Amino acid sequence: MHFDLTDDQKALQQTVRDFCRREVIPVAAADEKAHRFQRELVSQMGQLGFFGCPIPEKYGGNGMGYLAHALVCEEIARVSGSLRAGFNMQTMLTARTILKFGSEKQRQTLIPKLVRAELLGCFAITEPNAGSDAGSLKTTAIKKGDSYILNGSKTWITYATVADLGVFFAYTDPSKRYKGMSAFLVDMHTPGVSARLIEEKLGWHACPTGEVFLEDVAVPKESLLQEEGYGFPIMMMDLDGSRLTAASGALGVCQAFLDESIKYANQREQFGQKIGQFQMIQDVIAQMVVETEAARLLVYRCAAQKDQGRENNTLETSIAKYYACDAASRLADMALRIFGAYGYSGEYPVERYLRDAKLYQLLEGSANIQKLIIAQDALGYRKANR
Ligand SMILES: Cc1cc2nc3c(=O)[nH]c(=O)nc-3n(C[C@H](O)[C@H](O)[C@H](O)COP(=O)(O)OP(=O)(O)OC[C@H]3O[C@@H](n4cnc5c(N)ncnc54)[C@H](O)[C@@H]3O)c2cc1C
Repeated sequence: MHFDLTDDQKALQQTVRDFCRREVIPVAAADEKAHRFQRELVSQMGQLGFFGCPIPEKYGGNGMGYLAHALVCEEIARVSGSLRAGFNMQTMLTARTILKFGSEKQRQTLIPKLVRAELLGCFAITEPNAGSDAGSLKTTAIKKGDSYILNGSKTWITYATVADLGVFFAYTDPSKRYKGMSAFLVDMHTPGVSARLIEEKLGWHACPTGEVFLEDVAVPKESLLQEEGYGFPIMMMDLDGSRLTAASGALGVCQAFLDESIKYANQREQFGQKIGQFQMIQDVIAQMVVETEAARLLVYRCAAQKDQGRENNTLETSIAKYYACDAASRLADMALRIFGAYGYSGEYPVERYLRDAKLYQLLEGSANIQKLIIAQDALGYRKANR
């Protein structure tokens, strides 16, 4: 499989790099320190079409596809993990969910606004006692006349405190476990919806994460995506998309560690020579180059398959997600070896990238969950690709 980028993909990549140089790099470190979410930057990305790659032009996207989406995520994550989060919130987990499972009216009214970031999205599976085991969620949605009444609480929800619209998972029939789960589009300004910021976390400080409380939230019956009981397949399809986004972000972090490490190894002198001249430093640089290239090939293969119509390539998605996200943490360790004390300081961005890297191992299905999918497929217990 070849990954020679097309002229359009190269042009898009350059546009994102220019945007990062102009708008993101000058503020990324300060925003993280100040815990400042810049909606303005997300809006600019929307105006530039960055959120629209896997979305057809008919609904306000640019139709450039999944590889283009991966390229954009990679470039943004190279400079800011916090901003990369938007690619799941605006694209994969909301706009694409509505594209696949919404009504034509929802597609026409909501997708263009999400893609342009006029509306901010969120996606809510996780609850205090339902993490990897999504089936154990407790939120309910009970039909009453022309509405569903939602009750429950979600936690660790990206954009919880700023979102206008959310995709929520709840049980319409708790007695049926996975088969009783349904997915809803929830207007976050509906009475009964409230959110609280999670203030203390390791990284992603420029991206709000929070709890969401649903107290007798009445949503119109049209908010149900597909049919009752269709929530779990929707969740799985969504994760096949969002794991590509996460893997692309992790690849961007790998590249960032490599770039910074090469620069530093060529500047820093000890024992009368640049540290890059020491063979033990070269050993680390070589490993970083190979890990990054391996991650890139797996991520691009996954995206290219989706562009060829294999959107539910769960196996290749899990392989890319597992490898790229763990590689980012391995590269964090390597970069810190090269930087020594300066890697531990706030003077260089590697400490921030290290905090970004750790998150990729647990988001969108932890590393263990990806390994379960990969191993069970290999052992013949459960085929990953549907
Ligand atoms: C900054 C941030 C943003 C987030 N944004 C969102 C969001 O927008 N929406 C959302 O719904 N969620 C979000 N999450 C939640 C995230 O998806 C969960 O953290 C993730 O699903 C893992 O769940 P958990 O943390 O409860 O870990 P747990 O499920 O409690 O797992 C703990 C450990 O046990 C391991 N483990 C669990 N089950 C198994 C098993 N069967 N076999 C082997 N090992 C296992 C896990 O791999 C992990 O190492 C976010 C989390 C963070 C930190």
